[in-house]
Amino acid sequence: MTPIIRTVAEMRQVARGWKAAGGVVGVVPTMGALHEGHLSLARAAKAECDRVIVTIFVNPKQFNNPDDLLKYPRTEQADAALLATVGVDAIFAPLPEEVYPDGFATAVSVSGVAEPLEGALRPGHFDGVATVVTKLFGMTLADRAYFGQKDWQQLRVVNRLVRDLNLPVWIVGCETVREADGLAMSSRNARLDTASRPVAPALYAAMTAAARYIRAGGDAAQALAQCQAQVLAAGFTSVEYVELRDAASLEPAQGLDRPLRMLAAASVGNVRLIDNIPV
Ligand code: AMP
Repeated sequence: MTPIIRTVAEMRQVARGWKAAGGVVGVVPTMGALHEGHLSLARAAKAECDRVIVTIFVNPKQFNNPDDLLKYPRTEQADAALLATVGVDAIFAPLPEEVYPDGFATAVSVSGVAEPLEGALRPGHFDGVATVVTKLFGMTLADRAYFGQKDWQQLRVVNRLVRDLNLPVWIVGCETVREADGLAMSSRNARLDTASRPVAPALYAAMTAAARYIRAGGDAAQALAQCQAQVLAAGFTSVEYVELRDAASLEPAQGLDRPLRMLAAASVGNVRLIDNIPV
């Protein structure tokens, strides 16, 4: 079985040993309830690094909704069994009090790219992400860190903070892994009931159709409105946003001459899903 490390002191001691022997340390930050999307990051890390740490930490600071934190799935034993099949070297799963001991008073806050979309709808979310990611890099002595494009804005936020704070970590963004019907894999998908699950793929389907229309020269505003209507017609209860943004800065898209990203958030049966695709 993969060793599970609980303390920062032990994690750093183990990582220091690996690095002293010349090893490149790859880290995959997760909140557990692992699925094939997470495992694809772990496999990419295994292919490129000498030692791989998967962190499992449900970070209270990035939940703006206490109920969401409470309901977040926790499946450590199953996660460890999955990670053993990938052959990672360690699981780092600290308790909240180890990460945020009494007196903890620092936050990392990214402006610009962290402000629109999820940043606007989930106040404090990206401060929580940026703070814990910075800490996890320090705790694990990561040389390379693997993030999913599934959380595109998060990936842009992490890239920004690593550059701005001169953190010596190389960030790798890995492709979104999807179910056969197109639904982006997510730990939250486990909360979709039997009525909502068949509806959920409509988000990606509508986004793909809109992207195709825009790439073919169609009007973007019309395509996004149509996408939203299709998602609602399919049975989603609400669409929070479907937007076309500059892929790097996440500023509103100006023209088709630079990489664009379509990003969306929508809820079906009380489960909030996000997705994004290149345009
Ligand atoms: P989470 O446990 O949801 O915080 O996700 C941990 C990491 O896995 C993040 O970098 C996510 O972007 C990534 N991830 C989650 N779902 C997927 C997916 N379907 N495909 C690729 N990466 C993913």
